[in-house]
Amino acid sequence: MGVTQEVRSTCPYCGVGCGVLIETDGQVITGVRGDPAHPANFGRLCSKGATLHLTARPHLRSARALYPEYRRSRGEPRQRASWDETLDTIAERFAACIREHGPASVGVYVSGQLLTEDYYVFNKFVKGLIGTNNIDTNSRLCMSSAVTGYKQTLGADSPPCSYEDLDHAEVVFIAGSNTAFAHPILYRRLEGAKERRPDLKMIVVDPRRTETAREADLHLAILPGTDVALFNAMLHVLLWEGLVDRRFIEAHTEGFAAVREQVADYTPRAVAGVCGIPEEAIVQAARWFGESRATLSLYCQGLNQSSSGTAKNAALINLHLATGQIGRPGAGPFSLTGQPNAMGGREVGGLANQLPAHRDLANAEHRAEVARFWGVETVSAKPGKTAVEMFEALRTGEIKMVWIACTNPAQSLPNQVSVREALQQAEFVVLQEAYHDTECAPYADALLPAASWGEKEGTVTNSERRITRLRRAIPPPGEALPDWCIVVALARRLEARLRPGQATLFPFETTEQVWNEHRELTRGRDLDITGLSYALLEDPGPQQWPMPEGRLSGKPRLYEDGIFPTENGKARFVATPYQPVAERVSARYPFALTTGRLRDQWHTLSRTGTVAQLYSHTPEPRLTMHADDMLRRGLKSGALVKVESMRGGVYLLAEASDEVRPGQVFVPMHWGERFLAGRDSCGINTLTLPALDPSSKQPELKHAAVRISAAQLPWRLTAFGYPEGRTAFELLDALAPLLKQYPFASVVLIGRDPEGVLLRLAAEHSPDAAAFAWIDELFELNHPGVIRYDDARHLVSRRIDVKEGRLRAVRLSGRLHDLAAEPWLKDWLTRGEPIEPIRRLLLKPSHTPPAGYVARGKIVCSCWNVSADQITDCLASLDGPPEAQLQALQDRLKCGTHCGSCVPELKQQIQAQQALA
Ligand code: SF4
Repeated sequence: MGVTQEVRSTCPYCGVGCGVLIETDGQVITGVRGDPAHPANFGRLCSKGATLHLTARPHLRSARALYPEYRRSRGEPRQRASWDETLDTIAERFAACIREHGPASVGVYVSGQLLTEDYYVFNKFVKGLIGTNNIDTNSRLCMSSAVTGYKQTLGADSPPCSYEDLDHAEVVFIAGSNTAFAHPILYRRLEGAKERRPDLKMIVVDPRRTETAREADLHLAILPGTDVALFNAMLHVLLWEGLVDRRFIEAHTEGFAAVREQVADYTPRAVAGVCGIPEEAIVQAARWFGESRATLSLYCQGLNQSSSGTAKNAALINLHLATGQIGRPGAGPFSLTGQPNAMGGREVGGLANQLPAHRDLANAEHRAEVARFWGVETVSAKPGKTAVEMFEALRTGEIKMVWIACTNPAQSLPNQVSVREALQQAEFVVLQEAYHDTECAPYADALLPAASWGEKEGTVTNSERRITRLRRAIPPPGEALPDWCIVVALARRLEARLRPGQATLFPFETTEQVWNEHRELTRGRDLDITGLSYALLEDPGPQQWPMPEGRLSGKPRLYEDGIFPTENGKARFVATPYQPVAERVSARYPFALTTGRLRDQWHTLSRTGTVAQLYSHTPEPRLTMHADDMLRRGLKSGALVKVESMRGGVYLLAEASDEVRPGQVFVPMHWGERFLAGRDSCGINTLTLPALDPSSKQPELKHAAVRISAAQLPWRLTAFGYPEGRTAFELLDALAPLLKQYPFASVVLIGRDPEGVLLRLAAEHSPDAAAFAWIDELFELNHPGVIRYDDARHLVSRRIDVKEGRLRAVRLSGRLHDLAAEPWLKDWLTRGEPIEPIRRLLLKPSHTPPAGYVARGKIVCSCWNVSADQITDCLASLDGPPEAQLQALQDRLKCGTHCGSCVPELKQQIQAQQALA
């Protein structure tokens, strides 16, 4: 074991881009803490960031892709091969395809998780070497409407604000963002600002009563997709009440007359009906927005993931332009990026319609500049296929081969049935991945093992345009390589076949050389970073662009001079007529489904899904529904329901909540078929539709019309426990083939230390004895010491294993009521309670828990494992103002003292208890 050291990096999850210090002995990551010197987080980390080291534990290597593999022929399994052999094979296949069908027969689909250097070489590979623009990224699914919104109004894809604007804002207008869950450390900053300045007003626009909305001074719970109508109505009020800044409009904008005319019809009264909120709330929001000295908007997927995402962004920016709320401390439209380096991808032009350094593909001069710089004849003028289009083209055969890097389209794209059809019939699928067990992996003809977090160096840019340099903490496992190295190795092989004898376009030997080439392309552009270097990113540290040559630091705020990067220097108002969602609810599909993020999970769970602790806040995939809707359908909380859209269906456990209004349902976006399977289901995105925004081509992942009915699956099984001879994660993997055999199957991690697994199955009929034997074998419930109970006539069967006086594993099966003991047995197991008090019940498990048993309830603080019931008990003995109660809770239970992600929930519990009192 080497000497422990700390290495500077960033968190690989959300776009806040928190700095982290990775503790390592040079071979293994042993810990992580927030970097006190990083200006994005000043040492803080949320529940996801604070557990990063747990996602890099050595035993999780079983999930890592360690060696190159490829299929020798169709239908055969992939076989391990050398890098040389695999890359030669891929280069030969790509070259043959390009020669026969042209450059556009190949597509490359990358990720906002890639580092800027990785992104840069991928983009050059596609646009410079292959000669097509068929490269797009999963960032298309999260922020392309923000890009088009900025470009249409402000002239460039440049978020004008900084995190420090939260310290100056008088009104924070949050639209389509559950910031408390999705960008927790930024939310901590907002909480801090509110604590220091209690007058700071927070308006939240969200159909759901999210954790963020619950804390708002004004929550506008609009009907899904009606944001444009709301923003237009707010502008109507601002005009009517004389709250617009005529001097700013006159001097710094154009196109106002058309927008003024358009919003004349958007009276608060008319729009109240469209949005489903009171007229007064619209007027109030507009007044606060316009009267404040500094209004800062924060927005994210609720605006972007929409078939009118660009219009939503533009309508919001119209409000800022009309009131002059831009280019001043605390004011401006601030798009929050979902992924750690969505911004870096935008900077290098790694999308189907962009060129490096914010150049436009449609601009002939820009194409010529880039071609000259790269030393190629031309850059194709034809826009490439965007994410959803690319997979549709793969399905129809227009694109024949695809290279997917660092992303999981077999879960994250909408309309999964069609995406899988595309992957199935592609002629050749290359997957470059850190993990071999993603939903996409079975479709890969070639698998290229990539380095992951902590294993490579490079740069990323966060939501506030801040570039951070990441250092490598440990070497990648097996033969995995940094992404840019893989691209360069393949590019050189393809060059030898497509342009033999010519100098390479990829002369890079180091990450820094790649970055320096990218930097040079920014010279004279709005994001000019020619004043920066790897050395300066190290010391003085992370910087915000632009930072042209000669400048000593980056620029926190854009457009302070009122000059915008348009031809005449004026920002543009954009007329934004309201369009309803693409798929309206109907008598057949009467519910509006919306999707969103959980507090402790990230995207498709390939990383956070490996840490049991991160399941404690939301233990299982659930559909949130209003209690009245459940009552009307005769459903109880916990009932298994079938959710169907026009594209397919999934089974989910339903839960009553006041978070949604009647007619709406919510489901977290994280659950793919590895965790939520079933014979005909491909996870949550089985339900979503591929309707696109016409400008940004971003799909409407936030809304689909669905119907809900009670599941007709009377046979149920639940099995949970700690595996003996393997890790929980290995058991999870071993269960995968079983899941597809039942109409409903879900699997999650439970416990903490040790970690266990919970499996649920439901079907029309009880399966045969072989199926039971398989499950019992996996949970090691097949040895003679296991407690057994079988009632063949009633199809009831139980298996319980006890080790050292404590429950180790349990399997219950039968009808729903035969599983009624599950909650307390599971609680007993995960708490590691001795079995003596329940020994009698084990022989014939009772539905009712033993006398004196008190359930722990929902875990609120996952860092310190503190439940809602513990908090309630503690609050019962407290009085005084809410701040004092929060402090006392933190002192006594430690909840909310580590990462702070649960603080909003603690405050709400205090409020609720005080209201009750
Ligand atoms: Fe990571 Fe949390 Fe910071 Fe986002 S807020 S970058 S998830 S630590």
